[in-house]
Amino acid sequence: MDDDTATLTTSSHPVTFRGRGLGLRSSERLTLLVCPLCSQRNGERMAAFGTCVWCGYEPSRRDEEPVAGEPSSSRKASNFNK
Ligand SMILES: [Zn+2]
Repeated sequence: MDDDTATLTTSSHPVTFRGRGLGLRSSERLTLLVCPLCSQRNGERMAAFGTCVWCGYEPSRRDEEPVAGEPSSSRKASNFNK
């Protein structure tokens, strides 16, 4: 309704917050994996709330930036083409 760009409703994609932290944006919720403010890894419970368990930071949706590249879960450094 608000946005009809061809988004996959069932899957999530990795996002950063102004280039920092790491989250997973799905159609209806944000999972905060790494806090952009304190750079701590979030616990699973709090990650699902989209709030940092360490400093309480809750990223604004406006700060989200999609991570370029394939959504693989491997640990290699991602290759930004910029
Ligand atoms: Zn934090």
